[in-house]
Amino acid sequence: MKNLIILGAGTSGTMMANHLVSKLPKKEWQISIVDQYKTHYYQPGFLFLPFDIYTEEQVKKVGKKFIPKGVNYIQKKIEKILPEKNKVELEDETLDYDILIVATGSKIAPGETDGLLGPLWKKDIFDFYTYEGALALRNKLRDWEGGKLVVHITEMPIKCPVAPLEFAFLADSYFKKKGMRDKVDITYVTPLDGAFTKPTCTKALNYLLQEKQIKIETDFAIMEVDNDKKAIVDYVDKEIPFDLLVTIPTNMGDEVIERSGLGDDLNFIPTHKHTLQSREHENIFVIGDATNVPASKAGSVAHFQAETLTDNIILYTKGYSLKEEFDGHANCFIETGENKALLIDFNYDQEPVHGTFPFAKIGPLKLLKESVFNHWGKLAFRWIYWNMLLKGIPIPFVGRNMSFKGKIFDIKANK
Ligand SMILES: Cc1cc2nc3c(=O)[nH]c(=O)nc-3n(C[C@H](O)[C@H](O)[C@H](O)COP(=O)(O)OP(=O)(O)OC[C@H]3O[C@@H](n4cnc5c(N)ncnc54)[C@H](O)[C@@H]3O)c2cc1C
Repeated sequence: MKNLIILGAGTSGTMMANHLVSKLPKKEWQISIVDQYKTHYYQPGFLFLPFDIYTEEQVKKVGKKFIPKGVNYIQKKIEKILPEKNKVELEDETLDYDILIVATGSKIAPGETDGLLGPLWKKDIFDFYTYEGALALRNKLRDWEGGKLVVHITEMPIKCPVAPLEFAFLADSYFKKKGMRDKVDITYVTPLDGAFTKPTCTKALNYLLQEKQIKIETDFAIMEVDNDKKAIVDYVDKEIPFDLLVTIPTNMGDEVIERSGLGDDLNFIPTHKHTLQSREHENIFVIGDATNVPASKAGSVAHFQAETLTDNIILYTKGYSLKEEFDGHANCFIETGENKALLIDFNYDQEPVHGTFPFAKIGPLKLLKESVFNHWGKLAFRWIYWNMLLKGIPIPFVGRNMSFKGKIFDIKANK
């Protein structure tokens, strides 16, 4: 019997277990999946928790429920990968593998920024990229009386690069609804030279920031958080004061990647961007946020990657060459507040464009334009996530590679 081991039972690992269980011959392959936690979180829901739009129950479920029969589920911490020996050390046992899929994701590393974990952490400084952070921020916002709200990104890449902007837009609607928008001054601070990583999209988003009176500070490379002055300070001594700081700390791959000597300086694993095979070890494949591929770190991207990777695992087991197929396809809703959202669709080479999705002319979703339909699409994604995406059920009309049908290539990338 040969062993295929999946490390991490988050979005990507769970999808891979579901895809592969029906495709690998059961008499030849034993599939195992390892994760340290019992709970599977719907991370896109962390955006809505602080604003009391989602409840705790809507964003978490028992992870094992999504692991198919026939896959060996191991709830343990992964200590080290030994690629030269084809072994994985867990807290109290060692597993052998013939094929390894690394799906250990990325997480926030607030300790990377001086002063971030100082006396104001979880008092006036919060993250919403963790379940605990999003809940603590929700409790803070419920009684906050207003002041300077700074929404800040430390450095790229981060998972779901649109989430901080969505946070700023939702904050605008939240305070309007509470009748206290005039008491809140919102500033969006980014290390990028514009609102988003994709210049064509930045144009649409800048307009929305202006409309909602959200100030933007670009090219801000944070050096430290000054807890006494309540300010973030950059390398040219520029200071931005805050009463409430909502920050996206540095995102990094898990420490197990560093301990195993498999990652770059942010613990992301060098991965072939079209096949998803590790650059260094031919029987190791990488998916989702754990890779260093230049695609967005998003569940939708992991979903498209999972389809290509499943085919490639099967090809690899049969000794055929891999498909160089994954094109960096990302399909993301950007919540813009007041029950509207934008939709963007892009890949490694193609910037987001106008048009309709998934059908040419019919839509019903509009690309790069705010609409109520898109907002419903964003909310529907939670149901799709729990009921289709994790289970590896194809989402009708949404292909793994970017389709050019219905797209209008009319915008140039200027800010
Ligand atoms: C606030 C927020 C909003 C988002 N919004 C969207 C959105 O709107 N649309 C979208 O597509 N995506 C969104 N995302 C991104 C999406 O959630 C991630 O890209 C996706 O979950 C990545 O899946 P993954 O399997 O690679 O990693 P994860 O789902 O994070 O899974 C990694 C798993 O590995 C396990 N693991 C790691 N190290 C170890 C270890 N040493 N031992 C044992 N287990 C280990 C972890 O416990 C975890 O379960 C959002 C994310 C956040 C934080």
